[in-house]
Amino acid sequence: MKKFISLLLAIAIILPIMPYKITAAETSGIVSGGVYTLSCGGKLLTASADKNGAGVSGGASDGSWAQRFVLRYDSSENAYSIYTMLSENGRKRVLDIIKSNKKVAAGCAVDIYNPVDPAAQLFNIIKLTNGKYKISPKSNPAVALTFSKKGASVETCGSSVPAAFQWEIRSVTDWQYMFITKGQIATTLSEPFGAPRVEGSSRHKGLDIVAERRGKIKGYTLSSVADGTVIYEGYSKSAGNYIAIKLKDGFTVRFLHMMNRSPKKIRESVKKGDYIGNVGTTGNSTGYHLHFDCNTVGAYRGGESPRTVNYNTCVDPAPFFTGIKFSRRR
Ligand SMILES: [Zn+2]
Repeated sequence: MKKFISLLLAIAIILPIMPYKITAAETSGIVSGGVYTLSCGGKLLTASADKNGAGVSGGASDGSWAQRFVLRYDSSENAYSIYTMLSENGRKRVLDIIKSNKKVAAGCAVDIYNPVDPAAQLFNIIKLTNGKYKISPKSNPAVALTFSKKGASVETCGSSVPAAFQWEIRSVTDWQYMFITKGQIATTLSEPFGAPRVEGSSRHKGLDIVAERRGKIKGYTLSSVADGTVIYEGYSKSAGNYIAIKLKDGFTVRFLHMMNRSPKKIRESVKKGDYIGNVGTTGNSTGYHLHFDCNTVGAYRGGESPRTVNYNTCVDPAPFFTGIKFSRRR
């Protein structure tokens, strides 16, 4: 009986620890939900179209969404899915191994498909000692992804052929955090990305980062997260004083509810870390906070009115700030 009780105790102690053990399999250097390019032998993984059965091949860098992928870690499966940014900004279709005789084996072709088959669509990303990565299907670690010899397509090879499967995985974003005051990083969210809105059926398409009002408000400065060009600077009833910056990495980011108009003007170029304004509560806002959102390249339809922002194509910017942990305001 004593043995039985100590066994129960052991289970009670181990169970809460287990989730941490599982997340330890996340690959260092890869942030789940982050956007990456993947290259092997100098060729970039490139999706050919946004549809099921579309191919993937090796291409030269062209900065398009076809070469950008979201690596999303599933802690219950203990593996990654590789989403194409072509399809709903990395929320719909994934890299998929076309099985041969219902098996994931060496020599299988790879395409894009809806996430319906974990055996063909879940991957272990293993960091190698030279900083490159091996991408192996979870269902068969004996094989790995590679380009076909001519680079025309992606296939699986035996994972004992090291040169063939070494991938470079690079973050598309190299952002600097934008909301720092007196050496403190503001990371408390009153509303995270995707929170349901009270007034309608749509969801919150940015981060609302709280500014504690203690101390001098003027201390709350905002800076550009990366190099880019100002595509809008102005005021609207809902956004208040705001600025939209098209970044060189392809994203358009916006800073809303600023205290004053930004000193930066439309078409002015900005560098990472440049001062762009102060946190405020102008427009449709109930307290000092920054609404920060991030659209894909096609989302800002070239115009200079807030109406030209297509909120349906916003992505969650939180994973782009490597090492920053946001918390929810209680
Ligand atoms: Zn907001």
